[in-house]
Amino acid sequence: TQPYQNNNNNNNRSTSLPEFSLQDRVILVSGGARGVGLTQAEALLEAGAVVHALDRLPEPGQDSDFARVAARASAELGSRMRYHRVDVRDQKALGDIVGGIADTEGRIDGLIAAAGIQQETPALEYTAEDSDRMLGVNVTGVFMTAQAVAREMIKRGQKKGSIVLIGSMSGTVANRGLICPAYNASKAGVLQLARNLAAEWGVHGIRVNTLSPGYIVTAMTASLFDAVPERRTDWPDANMLKRLSYPEEYRGAAVFLLSDASSFMTGADLRIDGGHCAW
Ligand code: NDP
Repeated sequence: TQPYQNNNNNNNRSTSLPEFSLQDRVILVSGGARGVGLTQAEALLEAGAVVHALDRLPEPGQDSDFARVAARASAELGSRMRYHRVDVRDQKALGDIVGGIADTEGRIDGLIAAAGIQQETPALEYTAEDSDRMLGVNVTGVFMTAQAVAREMIKRGQKKGSIVLIGSMSGTVANRGLICPAYNASKAGVLQLARNLAAEWGVHGIRVNTLSPGYIVTAMTASLFDAVPERRTDWPDANMLKRLSYPEEYRGAAVFLLSDASSFMTGADLRIDGGHCAW
């Protein structure tokens, strides 16, 4: 596996395509405490957004990556990031928190719904509770988060908004040597959920798309590698670039989907999987 390297040493030339700007946009990121959600939150802050992160644990401590990003936002980026503790399965709590953010900020411009869970269990051993938990977070939780955000956008007559649901390549392919039927079903559900929300809310100017990553090196995959170390070499072999990906490699896609650069894109899936092509 080749580690991802950012070889952009073009530091003295800044890009300033206005359609990619998120200046002063108010964007919510569920699952924003760590991993993909936090990395994307930092990209949005760099593009000028005000970010409200939603996650289910108490606010991460001073030594956390979250605290580092929040401090950088106010000290260097001229923006800010706030934390809100909520379980995305709790429709009432979500409505209260999202409504409160909209009241304080005056609007909500976008959402990245990245909160999600993974569970590897053979299909014959799955319990109904296991399946309910998976679909409850990854589908219903994502749905309720999008609903709470769209409700505020529509109520305020904004006529514009962008919602990005984090799917997965696992929503359309089975994974080599990874047995997680309910996870893959949940991600397929996210794709179809997004298309339907896009169809229903397009009349309000709200765009809904999915971003479907391949394997990313995060806490979620760390446990899968610990369980079967051969996966570190086996999984890269299943894509054209022959490596795993890193959360930073999805930053640009997040900014693209949330910004006016994708203004005519809705009901679509942006799949970024290194050309995954093998079972
Ligand atoms: P992480 O586990 O690192 O981060 C997910 C975050 O979501 C955690 O902070 C988690 O909190 C939070 N979360 C989970 N359940 C809830 C809930 N009910 N309410 C609120 N917050 C919750 O995962 P990743 O960053 O790797 O994944 C982010 C998204 O990307 C997920 O949707 C995942 O399915 C998707 N994805 C990931 C891939 C990968 O290879 N890593 C590949 C393709 C898609 P807690 O710590 O309490 O669990």
